[in-house]
Amino acid sequence: MRQAVPEVTTGWETPRARRCECGAADCEAVVYMTWDEQDRADHVPQRWAIAPGHTPRGGAPWRVVEETDRFLIVEIDAH
Ligand SMILES: [Zn+2]
Repeated sequence: MRQAVPEVTTGWETPRARRCECGAADCEAVVYMTWDEQDRADHVPQRWAIAPGHTPRGGAPWRVVEETDRFLIVEIDAH
């Protein structure tokens, strides 16, 4: 488990580009997320970061766990 290090935040607030993870074959969207935001999405296997207006492919039920004007973090129901 990674320890939180609130003092070392310099530079982490700069959003970095990453690909939308909606899974659509023709999706070329790029979302901008800070380190913290990516951390919240990447540490949970069922969570995907997608562009606003996109929806996860695959047919499984999903819900929005975080929403900003830059991206959505959605959680896929794995049951
Ligand atoms: Zn997409």
